[in-house]
Amino acid sequence: MMATETATNTIIHEAEKFGANNYHPLPVVLVKGEGVWVWDAEGKKFMDMLSSYSALNQGHRHPVIIKALIDQTEKITLTSRAFHNEVLGRFMKKLCEATGYEKFLPMNTGAEAVETAIKAARKWGYKKKNVEADKAEIIVLENNFHGRTTAIVGFSTEEQYKDGFGPFAPGFKVVPFNDADALEKAITPNTVGFLFEPLQGEGGVLVSEEGYIKKAYEICKKNNVLFIADEIQTGFARTGKMFCTDHEGVRPDIIIVGKALGGGVYPVSGILTDDKIMDVFTPGDHGSTFGGNPLAAAVAEAAIDVIVNEKLAERASEMGKYFVDRLNALNSPHVKEVRGKGLLIGVEIKKESGVARPFCEALMENGILAKETHHQVIRFAPPLVISKEEIDWAIERIDTVLNKK
Ligand SMILES: *Cc1c(COP(=O)(O)O)cnc(C)c1O
Repeated sequence: MMATETATNTIIHEAEKFGANNYHPLPVVLVKGEGVWVWDAEGKKFMDMLSSYSALNQGHRHPVIIKALIDQTEKITLTSRAFHNEVLGRFMKKLCEATGYEKFLPMNTGAEAVETAIKAARKWGYKKKNVEADKAEIIVLENNFHGRTTAIVGFSTEEQYKDGFGPFAPGFKVVPFNDADALEKAITPNTVGFLFEPLQGEGGVLVSEEGYIKKAYEICKKNNVLFIADEIQTGFARTGKMFCTDHEGVRPDIIIVGKALGGGVYPVSGILTDDKIMDVFTPGDHGSTFGGNPLAAAVAEAAIDVIVNEKLAERASEMGKYFVDRLNALNSPHVKEVRGKGLLIGVEIKKESGVARPFCEALMENGILAKETHHQVIRFAPPLVISKEEIDWAIERIDTVLNKK
């Protein structure tokens, strides 16, 4: 036992000594994962309630996805877009058919896909809306999280994300969340897009007020402004529908996807849109060396198959309701609110009970890996393949931490 504990400390020490100090992970070293479960270097088993920020909707090492990965590695893994590969077209057809869009542009990480959406919206503005050169504006929301590039952190409202990284790109306007009038007032003839998260995950699992997304959509339509949903975290069944915007029955002009599209094994992202927007791109306008590579395409194709064939949206909806009901029934004196959609759930800790981090550390001691977001909120977002019995297992331990601590 002592020897393995030392091994854990050595591993953590090594990561800290040679790595940049840009994360504050819980002190656990994961060596194996399967479904909703992960194991540490000492053989201890935990339930993964973070799912790598919803990149693991299909669970750890889903056999269908792993098989696609292995099969493709035995053929070809990288071609660049200088040549065609046999998988990309087939994958994009499947993705477009599963989501109802005409076109897809593949990237790797979420932030790159957001940058792609920004480029598409601006170019559309100049080519199709006749906005004067370099005057395009994009409206974003307070408390947004869209990634970590310099352009993206430039329109963040989180001081730490920006501090020391300026100067920032112009062309973005921030309006409050859930305030349709503020959105309408911010629109000018130069506004090309409204970029938003339908549920703000990193912002603290903030659910939009009912009707807000629909109203915002109508305002954008009326003013010829592209409605651009960042569904990197909320997409692919996480909130109980294929996309979170489906809850209000709207179809965004552009949907930004990432995370679970890679099935928890490989980074795959991109934008979904229609011809009339995608056709602003011509050869040489935009690209990525790894974007759309055959390994990524094979993995993403399998990732979509799992979401569709295993009905993960219905499952997230059903299990999410059950989980929230059971969390509410705990009646913890420390909890201010339980909120969320599907299996993207936030438990807000009362200020007088302190911040969320010590609760996450206690959960870890009890076999549950969850991470705080925005100081006061514990996020519970397990893989969507979680069963009722596994939720019951988790509730027992969450009860121990929230009621007996
Ligand atoms: C995670 C996330 C991103 C950034 O994705 P990366 O792959 O980390 O670059 C962007 N938008 C939202 C809503 C996210 O949750």
